[in-house]
Amino acid sequence: MSAPPRTVILTGAGVSADSGVATFRDPQGVWAQYDHREVATPQGFAANPRLVHEFYNARRRGLPEVAPNLAHEAIARFQAEAAARGGSAILVTQNVDDLHERAGSEQVWHMHGELAKARCDGPEPGTPGCGAIHPWTDDLGLETACPACGATGGMRPHVVWFGEMPMLMEEIEAALAAADCFVSIGTSGSVYPAAGFVHAARAMGVKCVELNLEPSENAYAFDDGRYGRASDVVPAWVREVLGDS
Ligand SMILES: [Zn+2]
Repeated sequence: MSAPPRTVILTGAGVSADSGVATFRDPQGVWAQYDHREVATPQGFAANPRLVHEFYNARRRGLPEVAPNLAHEAIARFQAEAAARGGSAILVTQNVDDLHERAGSEQVWHMHGELAKARCDGPEPGTPGCGAIHPWTDDLGLETACPACGATGGMRPHVVWFGEMPMLMEEIEAALAAADCFVSIGTSGSVYPAAGFVHAARAMGVKCVELNLEPSENAYAFDDGRYGRASDVVPAWVREVLGDS
């Protein structure tokens, strides 16, 4: 069996969990320790920007301490092989870490943004801020100046907070409409709009495959499912579809 010519892959926390990245929604996850309304909403940032910066600075500092795992590497290999065979494999991720990039994936659509980027938004609507997005490895703070316009006080993590629209939604919908296969990897199926991708894909006749630790809340909507740790089931699935088991 050859690789499907046009694949859209969606990844979630389950892919990074095998690298030791703390998940957000599990009982032991980040949102069990922090109130997401305080650290991951526009209102929380307006009320206490220092707390929000501290929260994301700690996560950004943790990025070099984790490494891509076999699932990230298998996805990067699948993308490269799909392209080599004349197809495509678009990688959409809900993860804000940079592990897909570090595993060799060249194009990653971060629908929830990226810890390794900062954005100049202005401290409040209508105040100075140029909207520039910058690669970012240092801490962010109220005193941080935008490298593009020089404004201070408006730099924020380039991540999507609760109550904000995910990024690249039009591009993702178009990619799903043009796809032959949709593969959901390591996502709970409970967070919209990503949880709706399988329904959109299915309605358009796209084959849908789920690779997850256990059947997700949407498992019934998939044509096929493989269950286990991402670092096991993803490499196995990639070997199978590439025909090199
Ligand atoms: Zn700026």
